[in-house]
Amino acid sequence: MSALPRAWHELDAHQLALEHARGALSVVATIDDCLRRIEAANGRLNAFLALDAKRARARAATLEAARRAGERPGKLHGVPLAIKANQACRGLETNCASRMLAGWRAPYTATAIERLEAEGAIVVGATNMDEYAMGSTGEHSAHGATKNPWSAAHAPGGSSSGSAAAVAARLVPLALGSDTGGSVRQPAAWCGIAGLKPTWGRVSRHGLVAFASSLDCIAPLARCVEDLELALCIMAGADPRDASCLPKEAPVPLALEGLAGMRLGVVAEWREALVPGPARELHAANLRALGAAGAELVEVSLATTRHAIACYYIVAAVEAASNLSRYDGSRYGLRADEGARSLAASMSMTRRAGFGAEVQRRIVLGTWAHSAGWSARWHQQAARVRTKVAREFAAAFEQCDLLVGPTAPTPALRLGSHASDPSAMYACDALTTPVSLAGLPAASIPAGLVEIDGTRLPFGLQLVGPLEADQLVLAASRVAERIVCPERLRAPEPEDLP
Ligand code: GLN
Repeated sequence: MSALPRAWHELDAHQLALEHARGALSVVATIDDCLRRIEAANGRLNAFLALDAKRARARAATLEAARRAGERPGKLHGVPLAIKANQACRGLETNCASRMLAGWRAPYTATAIERLEAEGAIVVGATNMDEYAMGSTGEHSAHGATKNPWSAAHAPGGSSSGSAAAVAARLVPLALGSDTGGSVRQPAAWCGIAGLKPTWGRVSRHGLVAFASSLDCIAPLARCVEDLELALCIMAGADPRDASCLPKEAPVPLALEGLAGMRLGVVAEWREALVPGPARELHAANLRALGAAGAELVEVSLATTRHAIACYYIVAAVEAASNLSRYDGSRYGLRADEGARSLAASMSMTRRAGFGAEVQRRIVLGTWAHSAGWSARWHQQAARVRTKVAREFAAAFEQCDLLVGPTAPTPALRLGSHASDPSAMYACDALTTPVSLAGLPAASIPAGLVEIDGTRLPFGLQLVGPLEADQLVLAASRVAERIVCPERLRAPEPEDLP
């Protein structure tokens, strides 16, 4: 019996590319329907800030004609790709969901996006996010909050809120986010999809708007690990336009049949950070399932976990304050200084009008934490703690091959629940920030659903590897996703969103 062809939006990116490549599905039709689905869903989800319909359609026609003319199709032939609004892409507004950059269009395209496009990906639009990637819920956007495709009352996570929601709602099979302290892994976990933070420096940051440069990574989101692997292998590799990019060839996927003999370190402090209740039970069951599949579970301790949030928020804020000083009203975007009598007044009026509350808070914190007199106590101390965190991870990897734990301490929070308490929002990053401070590769994979107050919400499992062991993280995640979540999680269609 021949199977009926499945709709393009039910396919993973690698499957869709194959169907396009063999002419079973039309790239032009896929892109048309993709744009239609996004337009129909966006009123409910608020996942996209801008679409580039004209260019996407033109590229679809060109790619299709090239294939017909016998050109070899790329690995992402005709795959619709969403990018985060902090990534430069010619033709789209790179506004970082901020009033400060409203209307700003980059005259160039980020290296990572260029490489995906060279393999046939088609950028359809830019996604909503927490302003300048600062936030964990997607609520700190000048364009309003993104909704979680599983429940309109819940946050999709952040800061890559729109990219995660777009993939979970099957509007695109592949999206880019950026992960500085968890902004791809945590929304992936909250939306029931997969997300990868590569080793810092693995993927060029050229074309990514800087937040905290020593932590920032461009990072993919997809519905399966295989697609993350495909995207990483295309995007990674040395780039003369980013001097901090690792001088390495792009990685190749690692074959791994199962978990037999693999030592998985279970971090006691991470497990304990997990809210008691159904999420904790599900996580325990998932660990048992990994053990039953042949992995050797080794108990490890990372005592610095409890200092990671404080350390991260100082390091990230200091770098943010420095990076964001370029938005002074004279070079990029907004200038709102009518009546200003001095340069200082002009800058401060522009910044007050352009930046939202969370961004202002980070700039104030970062400026103070590295000011003369306070730097030794705060920034330099945070740098020392960061070194300790990295050393502790290195020691843990002497006892195990990979670490496993929950991606976040809770499933998705209700929208608005943390509005008046920023430190409660920062707590969402307790289990992702340590990994970022150490620069390590980590994936979040879908690990089942939990029911909280009558709402079914996804839950994520994080796998963390030693520096540069991206391929091992991906290979093990590919096996683990089939064990902890054999059935693909499927968010409701956006029009049925509860
Ligand atoms: N939620 C964290 C923050 O607000 C992480 C952000 C990110 O990874 N971009 O800083």
